Amino acid sequence: MSTFQAPKGTYDLIPPSSATYLAVREAIAAPLRNSGYGYIETPGFENVELFARGVGESTDIVTKEMYAFETKGGDRLALRPEGTASTLRAALEANLHKGGNLPVKLWYSGSYYRYERPQKGRYRHFSQVGAEAIGVEDPALDAELIILANHSYRSLGLSDFRILLNSLGDKECRPVYRAALQDFLRGLELDEETRRRIEINPLRVLDDKRESVQEQLIGAPMLRDYLCEACKTYHEQVRELLTAAGVAFEDDPKLVRGLDYYTRTTFEFVHDGLGSQSAVGGGGRYDGLSEMIGGPALPSVGWALGVDRTVLALEAEGITLDLPAATSVYAVPLGEEARRVLFGKVTELRLAGVATDFAYGGKGLKNAMKSANRSGARLALVAGERDLAEGLVQLKDLQSGEQTAVALDAVVDEVRRALA
Ligand code: AMP
Repeated sequence: MSTFQAPKGTYDLIPPSSATYLAVREAIAAPLRNSGYGYIETPGFENVELFARGVGESTDIVTKEMYAFETKGGDRLALRPEGTASTLRAALEANLHKGGNLPVKLWYSGSYYRYERPQKGRYRHFSQVGAEAIGVEDPALDAELIILANHSYRSLGLSDFRILLNSLGDKECRPVYRAALQDFLRGLELDEETRRRIEINPLRVLDDKRESVQEQLIGAPMLRDYLCEACKTYHEQVRELLTAAGVAFEDDPKLVRGLDYYTRTTFEFVHDGLGSQSAVGGGGRYDGLSEMIGGPALPSVGWALGVDRTVLALEAEGITLDLPAATSVYAVPLGEEARRVLFGKVTELRLAGVATDFAYGGKGLKNAMKSANRSGARLALVAGERDLAEGLVQLKDLQSGEQTAVALDAVVDEVRRALA
């Protein structure tokens, strides 16, 4: 029988490279924790209707990419394709917005699922860290989120990325623009599917990557020429706050993004070393989403950063994160009595907070020392019958090779001293 493989479009995170994924998640989360965002965790699946209404019936995510299924009990569910709709659903359900303390600031980290055509940087199961600030309309909040994402990427050492910024207008000015754009698009030479898209989601046509389409889009009406005064002022304030914070961005009047719920501020972080799947993260304001899923008016803003693509961006820039070795001390027992005594010391060291591992399986000295070196440990703790008879163990510095005999009951102190 052949062995199983991970499903198409998925991959496993395995040591040692998995440590980089954890560090990336942590680097994205740290600035959020430091800025008043509380951790939220929602189920991996939701009622399919939440995404249909929240993400949008006209988006690829809902029409083509969603893992939707019916349970044995007849519930229509879908694996979550993104985090915003679930987070807002959970906040509304728990009445977080009624605590008199807006905005509700939340962050999350987890797995998301989209039935996409897999390629490098695009998977069917991927990982995001996201942040949402719910219930307040304030350009400083939009700016805060962009500044925090920028901070995360910089803290990882990334520099070859750009921030694209746009405003999608609001419920006053966007419909006027939408109609003007539809008029323009209906006059172009387009295939059947794209013609359909003009009627349901015309802004997405601007996003079409095909050259034959892009050529025809020259001269298309631009949203920025249709923004109402309120949207213009709001956007100008976001831009000023970013500039004052020293965060460079590019105005991208064509930035639309693939989810229906965005209003006003939208942004994307693109990395220039990633080829076609260059968006490492993105987000924006979604003032209408709460009402779309049955809640009160709650203007909100958020983003999601892709962990997988951020790791690829690190590789593209040749950055190796400076991660502490997982193991500091590796214990090597020689003989049965030593196994018993050293195993006790290992437990003691671990309780004292020292990352410690043990040569299991009765390995010989040579093999055990190989494992010790492979573990990345700084120190080895070696003991045979004769050491134990004298109440000693050998503490070996694996870098210098220097070895000192240490009294058994002084092991924890001596190890601490050697590691300091
Ligand atoms: P989105 O929810 O589409 O705005 O995506 C936000 C971020 O999640 C993107 O910028 C990517 O970094 C990441 N992402 C989205 N879809 C995928 C996917 N299929 N595979 C890997 N990463 C993804």
